[in-house]
Amino acid sequence: MSLTSLTAVALAKKIKAREVSVEEAVRDSLTQIQQKEADLHCFITVDADGALRQAREIQKAIDAGECSGPLAGVPIAVKDNLCTRGLLTTCGSKILSNFVPSYTAQAVYSLKQAGAVILGKTNMDEFAMGSTTETSYFGLTKNPWNLAYVPGGSSGGSCAAVAAEECVCALGTDTGGSIRQPGAWCGVTGLKPTYGTVSRYGLVAYGSSLDQIGPIAKDVADCAAMLEAIAAYDKKDATSMQRKDTDFTSALSDDIKGMRIGIPRDYFKDGLDPQVKTAVLAAADVLKEKGAVLKEFDLSLTDYAVPAYYVIACAEASSNLERFDGIKYGYRANAYEGLHMMYKKTRSEGFGAEVKRRIMLGSFVLSAGYYDAYYLKALRTKALIKQAFDTAFASFDCILGPAAPTTALKIGQGLSDPLKMYLGDIYTVSVNLAGLPAISIPVGTDDLGLPIGMQLIGGYFQEKNIIRAAYAFEQTRAYVRCPYAKQ
Ligand code: GLN
Repeated sequence: MSLTSLTAVALAKKIKAREVSVEEAVRDSLTQIQQKEADLHCFITVDADGALRQAREIQKAIDAGECSGPLAGVPIAVKDNLCTRGLLTTCGSKILSNFVPSYTAQAVYSLKQAGAVILGKTNMDEFAMGSTTETSYFGLTKNPWNLAYVPGGSSGGSCAAVAAEECVCALGTDTGGSIRQPGAWCGVTGLKPTYGTVSRYGLVAYGSSLDQIGPIAKDVADCAAMLEAIAAYDKKDATSMQRKDTDFTSALSDDIKGMRIGIPRDYFKDGLDPQVKTAVLAAADVLKEKGAVLKEFDLSLTDYAVPAYYVIACAEASSNLERFDGIKYGYRANAYEGLHMMYKKTRSEGFGAEVKRRIMLGSFVLSAGYYDAYYLKALRTKALIKQAFDTAFASFDCILGPAAPTTALKIGQGLSDPLKMYLGDIYTVSVNLAGLPAISIPVGTDDLGLPIGMQLIGGYFQEKNIIRAAYAFEQTRAYVRCPYAKQ
């Protein structure tokens, strides 16, 4: 069996005990990638030579006793909106299709310091805008659970690569659910940290006030270990927080007696697939049996989260994406006359349809005549959503609900109706608006065999609560490997 079928913690143990070498682990990953990529297309760039080089360096450090810990020698994949020095970073866009950064994102750097080996860069919706990984300029990624379905998005490449065991774990980014929703659809675990916990330095910005980098792995322990490695104050990111409580692995305890878990009624209304509902409520019962105290409540404002999110995210995106003008980065149109035509042609040719739609929407809501009516109103709504969560967390340690209203969509289904696709973000976006941490863990499959994810939301800086609850649930069932991964 490939070493990629192990968790990071288990693999690192084997490497430490000298049962296997780092190079063997990396070679296993590269073999898996070679065998499966024609079907799945999880990666935009595979850095085989670089990975083998890193493997030898890390092996040396491990042998010298300079590198140990749960990620030492573990092959990981990185979403392609995180800058990697000397390695193509495209954001899934034509406009960055030739962009090779001169620096490495802080989170990637931290993982390397912890001994992880970077295998390459994973596919994503263009500029992380989407929920299916179909808006990538480089073509779609398929869901390893069923190749006729999408993996979710925008971190679909990272989640599918973990599920298919092409890598052991991966980094994703979450602006409105892009770690949790594809995690749920691919049957893996994904954690979005409290805003400010992981440095955004080197992350190509989508919605700067919402973006967070987080781990994607087979289980909660690996997510906790990754988060522990990447959570640190960074003066290069002005929104980075000083936290003293980043020993996340200390929360891997099976004791949830007395933990107060709130179940928002608003999350289980119309629009939620009955099979998802049943599986998530059954998982809630498991937590209850383990001693958690469950209570239903009204979170309120749920219906306002999606519109507020899309106004704010698009406003920020329209401003963030201004820098792609054909001069400073990446692609430039070939034939043009004069500066303005160069900008126009570069951006018209370089951005895909979804990105253009959002730049237009964002520019519109920020324009003088509409700023108050849309952007300001969305900011006020965001403040109210934050307040609703604050009230809830006065009574609860965690909030439990689905990660997404349905299981994975068929290829083509989401793209055909963008508005409907936006509505699919209903359970995830409010968490980003409020800046809270949340984790998505697999809780079963539907009758088509597609994975279902449960989301646990925590209060500010309370990652340990959601890690504890998710870990306790996980102890009641074995990790369900994707059948495709086993071939
Ligand atoms: N689906 C959401 C969007 O398209 C979330 C994306 C994300 O989290 N990057 O904006």
